[in-house]
Amino acid sequence: TETLHIIGGGMAGSEAAWQAASMGVPVVIHEMRPKVGTFAHKTGLLAEMVCSNSFRSDDDERNAVGLLHWEMRAAGGLIMESAQAHRLPAGGALAVDRDPFAETVTARLRAHPLISVSEEEVKDLPSLGYWIIATGPLTSAALGQAIRSETGAEQLAFFDAIAPIVYAESVDMSVAWMQSRYDKGETEAERTAYMNCPMNRDQYEAFIDALLAADKTEFHEGETAGYFDGCLPIEVMAERGRDTLRFGPMKPVGLTNAHRPDVKPYAVVQLRRDNALGTLYNIVGFQTKMKYGAQTNVFRMIPGLENASFARLGGIHRNTFINSPTLLDAQMRLKARPHIRFAGQITGVEGYVESAAMGLLAGRMAAAEILGRDLPPPGPETAMGALVTHITGGAEAKTFQPMNVNFGLFPPIDAKGGRRGRKDRYKAYTDRAKTSFSQWLQIQP
Ligand code: FAD
Repeated sequence: TETLHIIGGGMAGSEAAWQAASMGVPVVIHEMRPKVGTFAHKTGLLAEMVCSNSFRSDDDERNAVGLLHWEMRAAGGLIMESAQAHRLPAGGALAVDRDPFAETVTARLRAHPLISVSEEEVKDLPSLGYWIIATGPLTSAALGQAIRSETGAEQLAFFDAIAPIVYAESVDMSVAWMQSRYDKGETEAERTAYMNCPMNRDQYEAFIDALLAADKTEFHEGETAGYFDGCLPIEVMAERGRDTLRFGPMKPVGLTNAHRPDVKPYAVVQLRRDNALGTLYNIVGFQTKMKYGAQTNVFRMIPGLENASFARLGGIHRNTFINSPTLLDAQMRLKARPHIRFAGQITGVEGYVESAAMGLLAGRMAAAEILGRDLPPPGPETAMGALVTHITGGAEAKTFQPMNVNFGLFPPIDAKGGRRGRKDRYKAYTDRAKTSFSQWLQIQP
């Protein structure tokens, strides 16, 4: 049997190796640590958790990341099994004792007869064999450049600039309205590309005050601020002058308030559709380093977003990721070089759990291919399927930014509104996902 080579033994690479070896395929993990370090990693262990020690909610009935836990457990995932073995008390969250966790993952992988670890930095794209690139947000500079020259500079980013994403259904459309600036757009998709939230002068001034006063996150050591030109955080724009935003991302030109055509807004916040399903919208130009609690408070001051639910909040991080919707096929293969798959955070998912989940899929798909069998991805109604469908096609390629798992990525299930209705609906999502995922596990090659 041909060997599967995996570059990067982090969350994704470790899980990919485990899955492929469990299917009988020999694996070599190429990991640069401890020989070459990153600014965030501190050990030479595989699957090191670089920052928080949380796998987030473990509620597999009403939470999308909890559902992803469930699916990974059902698929015999090593990352979940090891996290469970070193679980710390943390209410409904899955908190992990990080060192014993990483030691367990490392020991299990090293002990597997089909897995070996080669401690080396890979600097070039491999031209032969079966490969998975799972080098994460801190991919080494040499390999980053090699990927960039293969894909083109536009298709690989070294920073993310994440604007908050809201669930479309939580926007108050008696205040907001759909319109593209200067009424550009002929198709239904184009007409629903933007939602607009109007502000009068008082609302705008209060909003600027709140932005300036909000708690901000500091950059990690080693994160340079070289991205500042392209995508300033909104609070930094506000610091440059009280009118900067009104002449920048919040400019009110080319828009007419559908509810009050007679009143010209002083400023307008635009939301842009984030996925083909139309369930998610991002707030245009609102990348930010505000703390999460502050973001929710400040953004709910925007008329129409008073009751907004956020699928994800904004952020700016050092983060290497490719434009997966453009570059990858549904099997997570580089279209131009199908012997290479990508997995983990470098594919534009965000978080330990999501990264490990994409490793799980890529590992199984690569092993199936090596064994001469066909393994379709899980359906989009599963958490893993929703994520992989999003990154390999569902997301808007032009504005692609990293995503974590959330119910807005799933094909919608209709249910009665209200809090109670939402809870029941989430349960319906997870029930549907579990049935579908179990069926996918049955068709394993
Ligand atoms: P990683 O786990 O980073 O694994 C990639 C591996 O590839 C590393 O071991 C690296 O050494 C290796 N590598 C890189 N380049 C090469 C090369 N050329 N050759 C060989 N090996 C190479 N996520 C959360 O869920 N919670 C958090 O609190 C959180 N905080 C973060 C803080 C920081 C500063 C950063 C940078 C990221 C954070 N993340 C957090 C995101 C987190 O890194 C990912 O969720 C997760 O680790 C990604 O898994 P991965 O396998 O894709 O990458």
